[in-house]
Amino acid sequence: MSDLTADAVATEHSGAAPADGNPAAPGGGRTVATAVPRSLVERLAGGVTATGEPSLVETVAPLTGERLAGLPQSTPADVEVAFQLARRAQAAWAALPVRRRAAVLLRFHDLLLKRQDEVLDLVQAETGKARLHAFEEVLAVAMAARHYGRAAQGYLKDRRRGGALPVLTHTVEARRPKGVIGHISPWNYPLELCVGDLLPAFVAGNAVVNKPDTQTALTGLWARELLIEAGLPADLWQVVIGDGPVIGPAVVEHADYVSFTGSTRTGREVAQRAAARLVGASLELGGKNAMLVLSDADLEAAAAGAVRACFSSAGQLCISIERLLVHRSVADRFLELFVARTKALRLGGGLAYGADTGSLVSARQLDTTTRHVDEAVKAGAVVLAGGRARPDLGPYFYEPTVLDGVTPEMAVCGEETFGPVVSVYRFDTEEEAVAAANSTPYGLNSSVWTRDLRRGRAVAARLRTGTVNVNEAYAAAYGSVAAPMGGMGDSGLGRRHGADGILRFTEAQTVSTQRLMPIAPSFGLDDKQFAAVMTGGLRALKALRFK
Ligand code: NAD
Repeated sequence: MSDLTADAVATEHSGAAPADGNPAAPGGGRTVATAVPRSLVERLAGGVTATGEPSLVETVAPLTGERLAGLPQSTPADVEVAFQLARRAQAAWAALPVRRRAAVLLRFHDLLLKRQDEVLDLVQAETGKARLHAFEEVLAVAMAARHYGRAAQGYLKDRRRGGALPVLTHTVEARRPKGVIGHISPWNYPLELCVGDLLPAFVAGNAVVNKPDTQTALTGLWARELLIEAGLPADLWQVVIGDGPVIGPAVVEHADYVSFTGSTRTGREVAQRAAARLVGASLELGGKNAMLVLSDADLEAAAAGAVRACFSSAGQLCISIERLLVHRSVADRFLELFVARTKALRLGGGLAYGADTGSLVSARQLDTTTRHVDEAVKAGAVVLAGGRARPDLGPYFYEPTVLDGVTPEMAVCGEETFGPVVSVYRFDTEEEAVAAANSTPYGLNSSVWTRDLRRGRAVAARLRTGTVNVNEAYAAAYGSVAAPMGGMGDSGLGRRHGADGILRFTEAQTVSTQRLMPIAPSFGLDDKQFAAVMTGGLRALKALRFK
């Protein structure tokens, strides 16, 4: 572990703001090395299913570029073992009443809030994001734990349905757990996209084999420990770590259902593998999300909202905004406010609150961000803010960037950057704005700003995205955990949150009990007479408005 500290990076530059803004925020006086000591890494790594003498893969702390952890690699054979262990534990877990399983989530909620500082350190150390953005993960997971802890019984209870024949057929729709869920998650929201998605799977009676991204595996392993402390049987949540194209397919190969979050490219592959096995999959994929600033928007609020929308977690947020569509009549004033706010953002890497945004996670993210901006500028785009890397702060820092004059042939126009870069476009009519917003194959999130809330909702109805936020960036819809969240088009299949978010982890089973007479010729009726009686019965049921 290095002595080079995240805090040292931040404080070194705190007084030296570059001429065009973005001063670094001071850190909290603690280091990645002390916040994530070797003993903690070793303890957490003990939660990985990796037998024999596993090879170690090293992760790097994005804030400093120094070694963070050596993690054991699972093999495809380990994945098989993980499924066996999970399957064995699942039967007893599923036999518990829902309220007993839900109580684990509610205890986890309290433990998470109490011990949040531990996981905030880990999320920051593994992703390089600002502490405030790490806290958004705690917030989202606590909301999901409370919601499913309280609402699971309602979602999962048996429901009486109209039977084939009134009175004579008693029908119940029941929900049974799928069995063992294969869960594959990315690095960008390692707490929320790991445990947040698993809570409804567990409370529905499933076990899980989870493959987190290696870069951020410690965060998930910490959450696993906490959930076990809250009462989850340890074998119920298996963690396997390894190369995505090797271990990912092995997970899909054994799963009873696949829950995947990641890129559209990998999502397609996962979907094909799941389809070949005839198991279901939910896919939470990429986006190229738009924010619409209508002519009557509160421009101060919209500018502040746009900063949250574009630069949270340095833009490495699937529901982040990368396209700003602004009504021409307010564009100049909006841009003046937005660009000033963007330039004033404090970049920093301290393990404490204070920085407005942090680092990118890796050289790969920095390369894509740099390429998108440099190519666009070369082709005539204009940089209104940012536009450059900040190696003086850390190896992967990039300034929050606003581009104007972006045209369709530039990659930044249509491809997901997944970095702190937004392009501005002007529109004259609402029609034009809606068409532009809907012009990508993606359909994840959008944001609409207007003082007329009815107008905002009417525009929302025309947008082809799974979530729409009116007068907020993304947190309003994402935080509404009782309602579904997910993508249309290339942004995915299925939904997390709400009823969809838990029922996807169940099989519907219809149990019908027939009484008094069979649904077949009986009581001396021949086939023709039976058909005549049934025909009369069907007419009567329709006339009596039976559904
Ligand atoms: P990625 O697709 O490269 O990796 C995601 C996960 O899949 C990782 O754990 C990886 O190891 C694994 N993987 C890689 N190859 C695989 C394979 N062949 N089979 C099975 N698993 C495999 O995505 P990423 O770059 O890590 O994540 C960023 C992407 O995720 C962005 O496109 C972002 O928009 C998207 N994302 C979407 C949501 C959402 O809710 N819609 C949330 C977060 C991120």
